[in-house]
Amino acid sequence: MANCAIVGINWGDEGKGRMVDLVTEDYDVVVRYQGGGNAGHTVMNEKGKFALHLLPSGIFRDGVVNILGNGVALDCENLWTEMEDVRSKGVALTPENLKISDRASLLLPWHRDLDALEEGRLKDKKYGSTRQGIAPFYSDKYQKKTVMAGELLYPQHLKAHLADLLEWKNLTLTGVYGAEPYTMEQLWAWVEEFGGKIRPYICDTGAFLRKANAQGKNILFEAQLGALRDLDYGIYPYTTSSNPVAAYAPIGSGFPAAKIDQVIGVVKAYSSCVGEGPFTCEWFGEDAEKLREAGAEYGAKTGRPRRVGPIDIVATRYGVETQAATSIALTKLDVLSYLDKIPVCAHYELHGEIIDYFPFPAVLDEAKPMVEYMEGWKCDISGARTWEDLPQAARSYVEYIEQAIGCHIGYVSVGPERDAIILR
Ligand code: GDP
Repeated sequence: MANCAIVGINWGDEGKGRMVDLVTEDYDVVVRYQGGGNAGHTVMNEKGKFALHLLPSGIFRDGVVNILGNGVALDCENLWTEMEDVRSKGVALTPENLKISDRASLLLPWHRDLDALEEGRLKDKKYGSTRQGIAPFYSDKYQKKTVMAGELLYPQHLKAHLADLLEWKNLTLTGVYGAEPYTMEQLWAWVEEFGGKIRPYICDTGAFLRKANAQGKNILFEAQLGALRDLDYGIYPYTTSSNPVAAYAPIGSGFPAAKIDQVIGVVKAYSSCVGEGPFTCEWFGEDAEKLREAGAEYGAKTGRPRRVGPIDIVATRYGVETQAATSIALTKLDVLSYLDKIPVCAHYELHGEIIDYFPFPAVLDEAKPMVEYMEGWKCDISGARTWEDLPQAARSYVEYIEQAIGCHIGYVSVGPERDAIILR
C-alpha cells in the first residue's frame, strides 16, 4: 500500500491535473484537500479536454473514488456547473465515484460578492483575486461563520444557523461596502437549489478514507496551486487563503492519521504566475509574448494572460523543500523547443549579494534574477517517449535542474496528452 500527494512546487499551473490523470491508474481514491474553484486543472485524455476547478482529476478513471475533503471551499453552485459539464461529455458521476465531505464548509453567494467588493476597494493595490470568494470564505470558516455541507442534511438546523449568519453578514455588506443586504428568501432559494443538488453526494468521507486505508487501498491526494501560493509558506499576502503544501493533505482530506509515502512535486520547464505579487524571473515584451504563446499560458479559470519567465531555480528549490517532494515531474519541456538557448534563473541578487535562498516576502520585490543560458535543442521533442529519445541538450537541461534543485526528476512531460510522458 502506498499513498501519494501530487502538489505544485511553484505558483500553480504546473500541470498537476495532467499528472493526477496519468498516475490515478495506480490509485483507488483521489482526494482534493484544499482550495476552491479559483484555479483550474486542464486534463486531456480519451474522453476529451476538460477544465476542472473543484472536481478531483481522478473522475475520468473507472473504479476510482473521488473525494472533496473538509479542507476545500465548497462552492456548490460552481461545483454543480462543473459536474453538468463533465457529465455532458460522457463522464459518469454518482455518489459511488464522487463523495463530498460532510465537514467541508460551504462557500456562500456573499463570499463572491465580498471578494469583488474588497478587490474594488483596493483598486491598484488589489491582490489579484479570481473573485471566486475564496479569501472571504476561509476568513469566515476560521471565524466559525459559515456552515458545513453536512448541515444540508438537517434543513431545520441549517435554516436557523443561516439566519444568524445572515444578520451578521448584512452588517458588513451594507455598513462597510454600502452593498445590498441579502434576504433569507434569497439565501434559502440558493441553498435549496444548489445545496439540494449536491446533497446525495455528502457523507462522512473521513470514515470512508480510514476504511479504504485499512483495506490496503492506495490514496492519492491532489492539491491546487503551488508552494509559493501557500498561505503560511508562500509570498504572503499574494498567496491563496489555504495550504497547498502536502503536509496539509492529511488534515484537509479528513484522514489526519494518513501517512504519505510519496510526494510528486510538479515543476514546469519554465515559470508562470497568474495575478499579482513579486515574480523575480519575469520576462516582459516580445520574449514574454513568444513564451506565453508557445506554452498557451492563459488562465484556465479566468483566461487571463499568465506572467512568464525562465525556470526559477531559487524559488523551485524552496518549493521542493516546502513540499518535501520525493520526486519531480517536469512538465512542458516541449514548449522550450523554439528557443536557441534556454534561460535559467540560477541565483538572485539581493542588496548587492548573490543569494541562493528564497528571500522573505517583504524584500522579494528587491531581488534581481541572475540568468544563465544553456544550449537549446531546436527540434520537436513531443514524440519522445524514452529518455534516449530526447536530444542531448534537452537531457542536459533536465539533469541540470535535477542537480540544482536537489530532487530526482522521475517524469518528464513533453505534451498535454496522457501518454506524452517519459519515465526516468
Ligand atoms: P494545473 O493547475 O497544475 O493542473 O495546470 P494547468 O492545467 O493550469 O496548466 C497546465 C497546462 O499545460 C494544461 O493546459 C495542460 O494540458 C498543459 N500541459 C501539461 N503538461 C504539458 C506538457 O508537457 N506539454 C504541453 N505542451 N502542455 C502540457
